[in-house]
Amino acid sequence: MNISHPVLEDDQDTADFHRFSHGLYIGGQWRQSADSREIQVLDPSTEAVIAAVPDATIEDAAAAVEAAAKAADGWRTTPPRKRSEILRRCFELMTQRSETLATLISLENGKALRDARGEIAYAAEFFRWNAEEAVRITGEYGIAPSGTNRIVVDYEPIGICVLVTPWNFPAAMATRKIAPALAAGCTVILKPASETPLTAYALAALYQEAGVPPGVVNVLTTSNPGPVTAAMLADPRVRKLSFTGSTGVGRVLLAEAAKHVVSCSMELGGNAPFLVFDDADLDAAVDGAMVAKMRNAGEACTAANRIYVQSGVYDAFSESLARRMSSLKVGAGTDAATECGPMITRKAVDKIDRLVNDAVARGARVLCGGKAGSGTGYYYPPTVLCDVPAEAEMAHEEIFGPVAPISIFETEADAIARANDTEYGLAAYIYTRDLARGMQVASKIEAGMIGLNRGLMSDPAAPFGGVKQSGLGREGGQHHGIAEFMEAKYIAVSI
Ligand code: NAP
Repeated sequence: MNISHPVLEDDQDTADFHRFSHGLYIGGQWRQSADSREIQVLDPSTEAVIAAVPDATIEDAAAAVEAAAKAADGWRTTPPRKRSEILRRCFELMTQRSETLATLISLENGKALRDARGEIAYAAEFFRWNAEEAVRITGEYGIAPSGTNRIVVDYEPIGICVLVTPWNFPAAMATRKIAPALAAGCTVILKPASETPLTAYALAALYQEAGVPPGVVNVLTTSNPGPVTAAMLADPRVRKLSFTGSTGVGRVLLAEAAKHVVSCSMELGGNAPFLVFDDADLDAAVDGAMVAKMRNAGEACTAANRIYVQSGVYDAFSESLARRMSSLKVGAGTDAATECGPMITRKAVDKIDRLVNDAVARGARVLCGGKAGSGTGYYYPPTVLCDVPAEAEMAHEEIFGPVAPISIFETEADAIARANDTEYGLAAYIYTRDLARGMQVASKIEAGMIGLNRGLMSDPAAPFGGVKQSGLGREGGQHHGIAEFMEAKYIAVSI
């Protein structure tokens, strides 16, 4: 059954957000799921149900692939300039509606409004960047070394793409995939996280308004992601899976995609080390640690998960960070004064509690925080632990919360060895005033991205992604992001 489509206004009353639970977005239509079941959406700060969205079945997923297939030819043959203008319009509408969208993110994800505003600006930027990329897709031309023919290389859209995204950046993780896919000429089916579907549907309405034709972007939510995704990957018309989420689920999806030899891009988990050398600008290092740790209340794949500080500045850094962390205002994300919102679920709070208790049992000292809130809402206080031993579970697992574990190191070699002692390799941070040392250490650290005297690295203009078990492929960057959605076609030409 089709239902009326939600309109996103510039300054929408937050009480109206239930309007975004209007349906699956398939072929430009809003519809209920085939079996009319729903998924409830909670506000993590109150634990109250704020909306319900349709729970898509395998049948709905088949309809979404069908819609994407129907729209594919029209979109791939739409002139790049026209595709670019539609993407640019998406950027403009997102920017114009940023306050409404940020509030929606804060409501369903819990993140502080200031983080949600930052996310919308970042998310919108993928449309602006890829509007510029859409008209700069070029091929190659050369003479075969034998001289017998010309070599022409054309770049074509890879085909229908299945995009699966997490709850921690409900807008940006989706636009980081949708914008380059559309710029390349692909049609897509987005499966957002069950905890934060409202942002994805609000954006779907915005794409429609911006002129994205029916079927080019389809959005479906499901509580049965394994079978629903597997069914889409089994359709031979689907040629790409782009996933952002945990390494565990990434492995499952890689195995599923392997059955049909579907191309995969994987943005997976992290365990970022944050190194502070004796010669660092200490104030800058503490500022950087606050950003690297506390953006999104620690619920970020790039979050500083292990802080290693050289012995000469260890006490000063630890005390200063604890002072800053304990002064943060904790509260509902939608409260403008909030600096640290709730975690996404009770399960997330329990995991953080387990990791902190384990570290303390192994000898870590609590400088601030360290105990989960007992009231309503999924709160965990900003926490600083020092003397965290290498065997602590949090040194090997993503904390995904506002906990900063600090350990001491003596030598550069020791710092590098400890930084690399993980199966992950997404992000790392280095603070030193010696740029040559910084570059040398950066070259020895096994990570896809390094912040050198910077606590923030995400930028649509730079290639984002990890090595080791943090992923495959890159998103954003001058050509990296769009290349994930194209295939090279070589034409041998006799003339
Ligand atoms: P997750 O549990 O792996 O879920 C991510 C997405 O996968 C959700 O949409 C989820 O759907 C879906 N999913 C779960 N099981 C699935 C299955 N068997 N088949 C197909 N899809 C499935 O991760 P998360 O907890 O949402 O996000 C946190 C993780 O994402 C962290 O590890 C973080 O580091 C990582 N992350 C990485 C990046 C990066 O760029 N490298 C960026 C952000 C986050 P449901 O919600 O319906 O379960």
